[in-house]
Amino acid sequence: MAPPRMLSFVAVPQETPEKRDVDTRARDFHEIYADYIEAKAKEQSSRCSQCGVPFCQSHCPLGNNIPDWLMLTAAGRLEEAYEVSAATSNMPEVCGRICPQDRLCEGGCVIEQSGHGTVTIGAVERYITDTAWERGWVAPIKPARELKQSVAIIGAGPAGLSAADQLRSAGYKVTVYDRHDRAGGLLIYGIPNFKLEKEIVERRTQRLIAGGVKFKLNTEIGPRPLPRRPALETRRGAHRHRRLQGQGADRPRRRRQRRASGARLPHHLQPRRPRRTARSLRQRAAQRCGQARRRHRRRRHRHGLRPHGRAPGREVRHPASTAATAPTCRAPSAK
Ligand code: SF4
Repeated sequence: MAPPRMLSFVAVPQETPEKRDVDTRARDFHEIYADYIEAKAKEQSSRCSQCGVPFCQSHCPLGNNIPDWLMLTAAGRLEEAYEVSAATSNMPEVCGRICPQDRLCEGGCVIEQSGHGTVTIGAVERYITDTAWERGWVAPIKPARELKQSVAIIGAGPAGLSAADQLRSAGYKVTVYDRHDRAGGLLIYGIPNFKLEKEIVERRTQRLIAGGVKFKLNTEIGPRPLPRRPALETRRGAHRHRRLQGQGADRPRRRRQRRASGARLPHHLQPRRPRRTARSLRQRAAQRCGQARRRHRRRRHRHGLRPHGRAPGREVRHPASTAATAPTCRAPSAK
């Protein structure tokens, strides 16, 4: 097979996958971008100039072998492209969707610096692995040999799932603990569907379960170490939301996202009510009493009744009705 014509960034303009139709998007929470078609993925991959020192790779936290899987995609050798991509990344289809490529690989791409517009690395990465899932190239986890040791992973976020994949593929018995009701951490509870569909993450979790990884969900692991087995802690996660700026920013954030993913808020994600202290309760009670007293006084006044405790004959008169007749205050006479 003839090698693909790479370095076509001069002739071929940059093109990202098409966005789904606005009206359709307005009625659902699904991803904004549709998938690349094969021809488009090949064409966009061929824009890569196969740098000797690929800055895309050095800007990638995983050190992904980007020029190679771009070249393989441009050549139509998608299965090999998937293998190269999966060799350094446990969830390439997730990275392709949510990585801030503009600040990483695509931001470092030399043809971006030359003003030709970067190679759409993220979109191609996503396309390769989505195709691999469709065509059954994503192999189940089958360790070469079973080891006696077992490892506990605390936290089923992206780090925990990747660690579980690596350790289980190496033959360890792996149990993943997480306090949420679903595995995925930030991928499930922190990123809205229009950027990452939850099925994409659950597909990865199912593969781990099929590979022998046990998940203990709704389980909060305290500071005490787990008994009898080495534990890998990956639960840092991001449980304090970053306050958004702009309209609606004062509404609780987490409820919106959770609603977007359509799942019920588990107890520990419910918005916390402010704790009532004895002092605040007393203040509240005093406030209530004061309000009640004022209401009562106003009502009595409205009915021309003298307030509680006022001596007989010191009735309050209505200023409006008794203006003419009201006795004027006279200074006591100097008799
Ligand atoms: S930096 Fe850009 S052009 Fe260079 S290898 Fe990476 S993707 Fe290709």
